[in-house]
Amino acid sequence: MIDYRNYIGIIGGGISGLTLGCALLKQGIPAIIFEKMPEETSHGAAISLSSNALRLLDRLDIYVDLKDQSFIHSAASIQGPHREISSFQTPEVLTTRRQTLMSLLYSRYKNLGGEIFHHHDLASFDAVKCEATFTNENKFTLKHLAACDGIRSSIRDIFFAANQYPKYSGYSAWRGIGKSSLQKIHFALGPDSHIVSYPINKEGDVSFVAVRKEDYQFKESWKEEGSISDLFDDFSAYDSKIFPALEDSVTLYKWGIYIRPPLKSMITNNITLLGDAAHPMVPFLGQGACMAIEDSYSFAMACKERMTNLVNAQVAYDYVRSKRTKKIQQLSMMQGKVYHLKNPILVAARNAAMRYTNIPGNDLKRIHNYNAHEVMRIYLASGNL
Ligand SMILES: Cc1cc2nc3c(=O)[nH]c(=O)nc-3n(C[C@H](O)[C@H](O)[C@H](O)COP(=O)(O)OP(=O)(O)OC[C@H]3O[C@@H](n4cnc5c(N)ncnc54)[C@H](O)[C@@H]3O)c2cc1C
Repeated sequence: MIDYRNYIGIIGGGISGLTLGCALLKQGIPAIIFEKMPEETSHGAAISLSSNALRLLDRLDIYVDLKDQSFIHSAASIQGPHREISSFQTPEVLTTRRQTLMSLLYSRYKNLGGEIFHHHDLASFDAVKCEATFTNENKFTLKHLAACDGIRSSIRDIFFAANQYPKYSGYSAWRGIGKSSLQKIHFALGPDSHIVSYPINKEGDVSFVAVRKEDYQFKESWKEEGSISDLFDDFSAYDSKIFPALEDSVTLYKWGIYIRPPLKSMITNNITLLGDAAHPMVPFLGQGACMAIEDSYSFAMACKERMTNLVNAQVAYDYVRSKRTKKIQQLSMMQGKVYHLKNPILVAARNAAMRYTNIPGNDLKRIHNYNAHEVMRIYLASGNL
């Protein structure tokens, strides 16, 4: 038995686990990460992060380096399969390789004195004794367990919602990176499909996510290898020039997008759920990782203020984060429906709203303006707990 009873044990070293590790250590709270993989891995090409997450990464001293290695946007355009619908100004959005974000979070965590136990796959947790046992038979006594173990969270299955396993959303997504001269975020919308492309640096690397609504059976995992011609077949309604130039040797993957329903509560005795473990969502607003960053930052803030009684920290976290994440889960799902409209009258109404109003930019602004630091600060100062 290894005694870490003053430590918050974090299960999972993905975006939420590493952000939580950084935020806790920066506040002087001991934390330790357990990751089942042998080393840091990050699948999925690129990622976009909006101001609501970027302002927190700035507080964790990661933003400046991230910005240097990424592309910052202030403009976007939307088109139908062939013709432009609208161009608009966006609030600041940063796009980058996932690997870049992960490496910066990892280095920051290590610089703060953080440690990761790789090859540690959680086997069971005794919530009364706060004891975590791993498949390699190592056992740790902890102060608290933060479950950052992603959409397939076994902690969620056991302690929160039995028999509520991840469900295929009906959407699949191709992701890849190629070369193009694109200088803004570009959306192409068609019936039952859409393609989002953006540069991720100043060297002409452009990432795309091409989403289709389809009843597809993923054979084993949640992603399957495919060729460029499979991609073009799936998106034959679009001009293939929408995609950046892809090298013949590039390996492309088609991902199944999975979801789980919102939970009544993200906390229980000695356990707090964060990120995709708590609220996986369809990626149509680019907010899954942003929510993971907001959760982790907010929970660390609550822990700092309520360290002598972590139950109060959990209650504050649950109160503040449940409302926000449920709303974003719903809005993300709705965004997919708006993007994928088929009925020509509704398509014309959507396009007119996009062309003649500021609705798309304003909707995004409301989501991106959210300041998780201020919201948690005000809640903690309100004396509710
Ligand atoms: C197609 C697509 C595009 C997306 N684009 C964006 C975007 O542009 N912007 C955005 O904000 N979000 C985006 N997202 C969402 C985003 O990727 C996720 O919300 C985010 O990665 C969740 O991070 P996480 O740390 O909670 O979970 P994960 O990244 O899944 O990390 C979980 C970690 O836990 C580990 N783990 C699991 N089980 C155990 C165990 N038993 N023991 C120890 N370790 C364990 C795993 O190995 C993993 O490292 C997108 C998602 C998809 C599918």
